[in-house]
Amino acid sequence: MQNLTVLGTGVLGSQIIFQAAYSGKTVVAYDISDEILAKLPERWEYLKPLYLRDLPDATPEKLDAAVARIRATSDLADALSDADIVIEAVPERLDIKRDTWAKVSAVAPEKTIFCTNSSTLLPSDIVDATDRPSKFLALHFANEVWRNNTGEVMAQAQTDPAVFEQVAGFAEEIGMVAIRVKKEQPGYVLNSLLVPLLSAAAALWVKGVADIETIDLTWRKATGAPLGPFQIFDVVGMVTPYNLNKDSADPIQREFAERIKKDYIDTGRLGRGVGKGFYDY
Ligand code: NAD
Repeated sequence: MQNLTVLGTGVLGSQIIFQAAYSGKTVVAYDISDEILAKLPERWEYLKPLYLRDLPDATPEKLDAAVARIRATSDLADALSDADIVIEAVPERLDIKRDTWAKVSAVAPEKTIFCTNSSTLLPSDIVDATDRPSKFLALHFANEVWRNNTGEVMAQAQTDPAVFEQVAGFAEEIGMVAIRVKKEQPGYVLNSLLVPLLSAAAALWVKGVADIETIDLTWRKATGAPLGPFQIFDVVGMVTPYNLNKDSADPIQREFAERIKKDYIDTGRLGRGVGKGFYDY
């Protein structure tokens, strides 16, 4: 599959576009307005130094060639006219996702495979808004796709197994390690593992069982992992765990959210991205 169309050019959409183009694919970037699309060159200039920093094979010439393989349009029918595969990265709202997929179904060629990059919504929440259940599934990327290069490929009940394999192959062609998620699972593989670990670490701290450094040291020493859970929180940034836990049914997790807000977010200790969070960098 050579021709990719990406719907939504925000944080993740722009990274998927650039990564696929860098890997030699012909990419069409679609968003709802030309004003939004006009910001894409800034996104490429932001990403280029990160590729040069993180990927040993990156060169300025290769990065310019990637940009040359990208075309932008706010006309959906034009965006999809020759798409082999489309990856949707629109905001994580069911109404927007369903509306987008209904419109895509009305204009996409028969050959096009449909993938959603949804993090929490499931493909089965969306599938009946499409006209092709057998060609609809999730392909889920992690932020900073060029180095956190997992592509979680997740089927829903009606996905054709051959299509599932085609998408896994496509993910590999654009530099991802394909993670085959054979059944629908909220959180895919990664967050099914990571969220319970981080919640357990938060509870140990809030209950006063152990301090942050001790919890991280235990995890690193005993498992060989490079980062402990609070170091992972620092990579994720404080805002996401705050939003996920502030209305939790569990009072310990709510207390964790309150501590994050008061002692970290309100004091500017937002995580590794700003040089300080649970740790100083
Ligand atoms: P974002 O808000 O940065 O970008 C969303 C983009 O979609 C914007 O450019 C917006 O203009 C566009 N958009 C809005 N309505 C649209 C429509 N009807 N049709 C086409 N485009 C539309 O969001 P994001 O962080 O890139 O997340 C996008 C998707 O990727 C979500 O489903 C999210 O769960 C998933 N995701 C995000 C991350 C992350 O770390 N940010 C990681 C993995 C997956």
